[in-house]
Amino acid sequence: LAGPRGGCAGGDRAILIVEKALEKYGAPVYVRHEIVHNRFVVESLEKKGAVFVAELDQVPADRPVVFSAHGVPKSVPAEAERRNMIYVDATCPLVSKVHSEAEHHRRSGRHIVLIGHAGHPEVVGTMGQLPEGSISLVEDVEQARRVKLPAGPLAYATQTTLSVDDTADIVAELVRRYPEMLPPKKDDICYATTNRQAAVKAIAGRADAFLVLGSTKSSNSLRLVEVAKKAGCANARLVATAKDVDWASLSGVRTLGISAGASAPEILVQETIDAARERYAVTVEEVVTAVEDVKFNLPRALETA
Ligand code: SF4
Repeated sequence: LAGPRGGCAGGDRAILIVEKALEKYGAPVYVRHEIVHNRFVVESLEKKGAVFVAELDQVPADRPVVFSAHGVPKSVPAEAERRNMIYVDATCPLVSKVHSEAEHHRRSGRHIVLIGHAGHPEVVGTMGQLPEGSISLVEDVEQARRVKLPAGPLAYATQTTLSVDDTADIVAELVRRYPEMLPPKKDDICYATTNRQAAVKAIAGRADAFLVLGSTKSSNSLRLVEVAKKAGCANARLVATAKDVDWASLSGVRTLGISAGASAPEILVQETIDAARERYAVTVEEVVTAVEDVKFNLPRALETA
């Protein structure tokens, strides 16, 4: 069992924001986009009265709306203000840090390269902080090799949930081509992503198979599967819940590695261990490579809710 694993401070805060908003405003509270990328979490909040929508225009102007942990383009709160809506921004503070650094670079006249996955809501949100044309998106080393950047000062930023190792390769290529390019003040890949990948790396070599609890939409969960494979466990896969585990395909496995993405609650891990116990004699060994004590405050409007 990889430690740390599962829920992160930014995701836990975002879920709590929806719960507090329900307490304060009553149901329904609308949430733009999945608050964190996990079906189990979304369904639990739906039962309490949250309504998940893709876009702001699906929210009646007289109901509160929460923006997800991934962050939103500036146009979204602007539109909520134009419609006089009550909105609560659950953007993870570590994503907000990337937004404010991008803004700072633009003010100092730098063009920004954002390393990330096209279409992921965090990337859409970060690109939407600045006017079109201020940010170039680079997804992999090949693109880093070919991207044409405007003359003048440059800086790079990254999505918070990328593979630490793949990002280092992309950055190396960018800096080789543009040696003056400024790095972030502090790594943009967040502590939760970094720690979960390190924990998977530490045990994957000893595992015959590896399960990562998480959603296919969850960038950091997908990265954990890749990290497990690269660290020596070819039979690594993503599963949403214990019910999705194909036990037949694990026959002969004596050591099973388990981790969970930053949006997956611990109960999903425990249910998977319980499901294994129904079939095998199980001894659980947890390998903890880092202890986390990160906590973020709630937005002021909800602190007393
Ligand atoms: Fe914040 Fe990292 Fe969690 Fe994303 S994965 S919500 S950046 S702590």
